[in-house]
Amino acid sequence: VRARVMQVDQSPDVTFADIGGIEAQMDEVRETVEMPLKSPEMFEDVGIDPPSGVLLHGPPGTGKTMLAKAVANETDATFIKMAGSELVHKFIGEGAKLVRDLFELARQEEPAVVFIDEIDAIAAKRTESKTSGDAEVQRTMMQLLSEMDGFDDRGEIRIIAATNRFDMLDRAILRPGRFDRLIEVPNPDFEGRKQIFQIHTRNMNVSDDVDFEVLAEEVQDASGADVKAVCTEAGMFAIRDDRTEVTMDDFRNAWEKIQQEESEDDDISR
Ligand code: ATP
Repeated sequence: VRARVMQVDQSPDVTFADIGGIEAQMDEVRETVEMPLKSPEMFEDVGIDPPSGVLLHGPPGTGKTMLAKAVANETDATFIKMAGSELVHKFIGEGAKLVRDLFELARQEEPAVVFIDEIDAIAAKRTESKTSGDAEVQRTMMQLLSEMDGFDDRGEIRIIAATNRFDMLDRAILRPGRFDRLIEVPNPDFEGRKQIFQIHTRNMNVSDDVDFEVLAEEVQDASGADVKAVCTEAGMFAIRDDRTEVTMDDFRNAWEKIQQEESEDDDISR
């Protein structure tokens, strides 16, 4: 069971250079997660405890997972990921045990970055979720909190959680000593979108007519994941057309297609 819920990556290959547009967030993650791992003596000398857990919140596809992976890479830590939804929906009755296993594994793998995605699935306010009143979900969350509370010598293990539904969270998990550092990761602005286009076309054969300023302007509201999808889809348009060079039209057609697919998805989910 453990192998299927926990994704362990001894050396993730994402670096901070692969992340565009969220510099302030990157700095904050480095200060709160990377510094305690790299220079724990700094915190000891000054006489403060580093933040226990960091919570990244914001819309889907903005780079939250990337941030966690990049810190693990930078500190040569093992990256251990677990999704809140899998914890409670896939392995009914196993949630609390899986949380225990997760921390045991982290202790074995030290230094480690533990990334809990979709934390809202185990830590939603009672009023806002049908499942949160569920005793099983409560038990899973209590186990997580007790693991975090009992974490005195946590030096070599850092915990990052992420959610797209900050409004749904039970405030109990945000108390001091728990997820007491909140970092909002928003959709990229114009500069961010431009950077993300540049990052994802680094290895692409892009024609001279492609202007990332114009594209960044045109893909308003796109997330980082959307920009990445536009680049891949633009490449597909070139391939279908038997060309090796990707043109401005390919990028524009790709954005159109992706918007269409997203609005169809919205229709289905409605
Ligand atoms: P979710 O909330 O859906 O789990 P997330 O915020 O964790 O999303 P990631 O998994 O980090 O998002 O991003 C998905 C993919 O989108 C990344 O692998 C990357 O290719 C691209 N991407 C997203 N944001 C950025 C960014 N800021 N810079 C570069 N690429 C990005």
